[in-house]
Amino acid sequence: MFSTAFLDLPPLHSASGTITLPGSKSISNRVLLLSALCQGTTVVHDLLDSDDTRVMLAALRQLGCGVQEAGTTLTVTGLGGQLQHAAPIEFFMGNAGTAMRPLTAALAVLGGDFTLKGVARMHERPIGDLVDALRLLGCHIVYLGNDGFPPLRIGKPTLKLDQPIQVRGDVSSQFLTALLMALPLAAKNRDIVIDVVGELISKPYIDITLNLLQRFGILVKRDGWQRFTIPAGASYQSPKTIHVEADASSASYFIALGAIAAGGEDPIRIQGVGADSIQGDIRFMDAATQMGAQITSGPNWLEVRRGAWPLKGIELDCNHIPDAAMTLAVMALYADSPTTLRNIASWRVKETDRIHAMATECRKLGAQVEEGADWLKVYPLPTEQTTSSITTPPVIAKASHAAQKLGQWQPASIHTYDDHRVAMCFSLAAFNAAQIPVRIEDPKCVAKTFPDYFEALFSVTQAEVHHIPVICIDGPTASGKGTLASRVAQALGYHYLDSGALYRITALAALQAGLQLDTAHENAIADLARTLPVRFEGESVWLGAQDVSDAIRTEEAGMNASKVSVLPHVRTALVALQQSFQRLPGLLADGRDMGTVIFPNAPLKVFLTASAAQRAERRHKQLISKGISTTLDSLRADLEARDARDSNRSVAPLKPAQDAFQLDNSQLSIEASVDQVLAWWKAKQPF
Ligand code: C5P
Repeated sequence: MFSTAFLDLPPLHSASGTITLPGSKSISNRVLLLSALCQGTTVVHDLLDSDDTRVMLAALRQLGCGVQEAGTTLTVTGLGGQLQHAAPIEFFMGNAGTAMRPLTAALAVLGGDFTLKGVARMHERPIGDLVDALRLLGCHIVYLGNDGFPPLRIGKPTLKLDQPIQVRGDVSSQFLTALLMALPLAAKNRDIVIDVVGELISKPYIDITLNLLQRFGILVKRDGWQRFTIPAGASYQSPKTIHVEADASSASYFIALGAIAAGGEDPIRIQGVGADSIQGDIRFMDAATQMGAQITSGPNWLEVRRGAWPLKGIELDCNHIPDAAMTLAVMALYADSPTTLRNIASWRVKETDRIHAMATECRKLGAQVEEGADWLKVYPLPTEQTTSSITTPPVIAKASHAAQKLGQWQPASIHTYDDHRVAMCFSLAAFNAAQIPVRIEDPKCVAKTFPDYFEALFSVTQAEVHHIPVICIDGPTASGKGTLASRVAQALGYHYLDSGALYRITALAALQAGLQLDTAHENAIADLARTLPVRFEGESVWLGAQDVSDAIRTEEAGMNASKVSVLPHVRTALVALQQSFQRLPGLLADGRDMGTVIFPNAPLKVFLTASAAQRAERRHKQLISKGISTTLDSLRADLEARDARDSNRSVAPLKPAQDAFQLDNSQLSIEASVDQVLAWWKAKQPF
């Protein structure tokens, strides 16, 4: 997950590959509860790992369900409608509505001594309509705080099932879902009838409930959306194995991605959800098809290609796909005519006022937008590049300085309003024909439904290599360049290449292979270097199956690196490996010839210096903290000798790239150095 203040998306030019989406939250928690209520064992594949599902799982374990986890597969051994023990249980529901409502209903029908609590916000979320319905049924429920809200205490019921049960449908469809999932527990010898009072909202979610109940052996009879009957004798039957569908709303970004950018041989393949999905938002497919997407589908997968280009502007009533329809607003930027999205009043009361948010941010990108109380009209931007420069990045005026030309792509820093969908939608603006980067503020807000959204996006998108930014940092040994580079990488969400580590690993691998670290074995070492099985995982460095993090950090390993690094064939052998680190969304590269040989076109190069005295002091502290005793004077002498050797050597001597910014950090804290580099970087950005 990117937890940086912002994430700059370089201009992207194409998309292809396979993406596996996280499981749907609504389906995950329903499946867990149903698996818990039935007899026997259910293997649940592709479960979503989120706050809400963790809350549900914890509660099921407290109830005595067997739950075994292995990655995203879970084995649940159900209760068979019987509780294991009668001791009082207190459940903590966090802020998980999809756990609180159905569990309340199931526990109230099962009966026992249960207390359900949550975080403060949960205690402000209404549950009165569900409790009223359950009380009519003979359940015993007491409010422990305010009437109509959790926390609750649940006792043993005296069930009265001869009358139809009435539940309101116009506040939350979760109340009806909760009853539908709980009442089969009581349907042994009579039909149970539920009547919906008021207009039922969010019908697609009730469809999901009915569908899953069917998978678990319960066939609910539905009369319109007003009356639901659970037939006498209904009992939960485990389907043995069940796959949780991927989230159809999340699929919308990748369907749009295919329509906008999968113009080559290979489509975007979306794994985990197919056209026959039980989720309402899957109908986004139809809208995307109308705009020009070419979609094929099988069980559990979709493949999307660019069809019409530019896309076609459409006019659509979006009431049936409120969440996914936001994605259409960004697709509209790539269309041949304006797109009007109607019947979207609910956008105004979601995570943020989404009509206002989409209009404001589309305007920032240069588009003309009109909005009304319940509609949005987005005019397109050019889909063909107008500048002639293809090979060099275009010089882009700063957003604030550019005269806002309506109808032309503009550099924009997209505000995301703590709304995951705004962030995900606007990432698609990075395919703009003007090849301008797009800044997404607060990218971590995607965690609500899709924590690894941007990683997933980068795994199936391609950029021109010269558009993927590289910042090079070099400097003498112990100048702190490694720390600085990794901190700047963290601040920008970029990858980090510690090229010194590659030389250190090469030397280690050579020694392990019994080679001598000099010209006698130069070619053999170069061969080794060319196929070095090296992996960086967080703080650790791996050579094949061997964790070499500590082994390469010794003083001796540094000296050995120095020896192999003067062998020209070894340096050449490592070029491709180093260049392969230039990946989306960008790279911080630290080391000797980064700015001169490996990434000569890097847009920012920094040469870090510090006095020998300062560097010796830092290294001294470092070694002392590792329990290695040494003297300042000897360290300083060593450093000066190494500087002289590194500067005077004929192969890749230590010297700043011509266009490098010099930074003397003798008197600077690490934070101040990071800020300086970020300030230089910012000055080069169009935002
Ligand atoms: O940066 P680090 O101390 O890990 O580098 C070890 C040695 O590897 C350096 O002293 C230098 O001689 C060599 N090196 C190099 N080119 C690089 C990085 C490191 O020659 N890009």
